[in-house]
Amino acid sequence: MRYSALFGKTIKDAPKDEVSKNSKLLTRSGFIRREVSGVYNFLPLGLKVLKKIADIVREEMNAIGGQELSLTALQNKESWQKTGRWKTFRALMKAKTQLETEYPLGPTHEEVIVPLVKQFVSSYKDLPLYLYQIQTKFRDEKRAKSGLLRGREFLMKDLYSFHAQEKDFNKFYEIMKKTYKKVFERLGLDALETLAGGGTFSQFSHEYQVITDAGEDEIIYCPKGDFSANAEVSPVKEGEACRLGHGPLKKSKAIEVGNIFPLGTKFSDAFGLTYKNKEGKDIPVIMGCYGIGISRVMGAIAEVHNDAKGIIWPKEVAPHDVYLIGITNNESRIKERTDEAYDSLKKAGLDVLYDDREDAAPGAKFADADLIGIPIRLVVSKRNEGKIEFKERKSAKSELLGLEEIIKKFKA
Ligand code: ATP
Ligand code: MG
Repeated sequence: MRYSALFGKTIKDAPKDEVSKNSKLLTRSGFIRREVSGVYNFLPLGLKVLKKIADIVREEMNAIGGQELSLTALQNKESWQKTGRWKTFRALMKAKTQLETEYPLGPTHEEVIVPLVKQFVSSYKDLPLYLYQIQTKFRDEKRAKSGLLRGREFLMKDLYSFHAQEKDFNKFYEIMKKTYKKVFERLGLDALETLAGGGTFSQFSHEYQVITDAGEDEIIYCPKGDFSANAEVSPVKEGEACRLGHGPLKKSKAIEVGNIFPLGTKFSDAFGLTYKNKEGKDIPVIMGCYGIGISRVMGAIAEVHNDAKGIIWPKEVAPHDVYLIGITNNESRIKERTDEAYDSLKKAGLDVLYDDREDAAPGAKFADADLIGIPIRLVVSKRNEGKIEFKERKSAKSELLGLEEIIKKFKA
């Protein structure tokens, strides 16, 4: 991609109504633009990141037998009345047609998926089932000043599991814990598995919390990471000794990037979702739900991986592999060399953002490279003779390498 043709450019200062670090950074670097409070457009660079996050999550959900589907955003009011959540769901948005018919705008999808699954499940042979989607959710959040961390419209992965027996559910819950650990590692996030309350239908749940001052939750955790609990339910207090001998427990603000939740038979009971066991007896299906805030993850990454110059994307979610700069000073020879490098890198399968601007000063290109935060910056210039300057975004050091050596580095 040539920067000159890219839709969505960097800007010096974020608009005044962006107050969170993530939205300031992501807006300045040309990834997102606010539509209304808590609602964002994703520009090409931003959409690339969002898709990479979604793809990692998708890959890991498929790996454990998840089947992807897509459920409606406009939902059935009657279903929400059946579960009682039409009145009680904290942030339910309600859309009204011209004939005054009301629709819940999906903040979550138990009310859709359970009646749907009921159409297909009748016997123990139909279970277990793991169904998920990556889909836009709506919530009437009171405070929507945290950029992508708290949207009124946002992207979520939600998986729902359906089991014949508690034992089977428990096994899957543990598989999910391992899978979430892997997902967040791949996303470049240090997410602590945190004990949390279970609300009205379970004793407990688990949240995946990333420590940051931008977070709205508080967690009590062991400095070595052996224990973490949401402060709301923590059985131990800040300052108490960590039982594993890792010094006093700490308290920090954190953002919940995902959670996993036993649902028991709460929704199965509401909709009469049962299966026939071997003896032909009707038994309620046991459920779990498992969420990851895809767009919140993007905000959380920007929130924790940055420096004074801009974002520092982890490799797996970066919008491009390489940011290529030519310091041409109107010399056609250097421009040719940079063009050649661009073609060779592309041929080698790398996704390059080529800053081909003729009218931008070298300093401006370097500043944009840092702000956009692609993991590797390559510079072709007169000074570097036959070589190319190779620099990682996260490091201050650079080295001079031949094009072949650079390509080899990526393949390694
Ligand atoms: P929170 O406590 O942050 O309000 P929640 O407990 O209501 O979130 P869930 O209903 O479990 O969240 O949703 C699953 C995941 O979706 C959360 O772990 C979070 O990552 C993400 N999420 C929830 N609300 C929002 C939002 N308003 N904007 C962006 N992501 C969200
Ligand atoms: Mg929560």
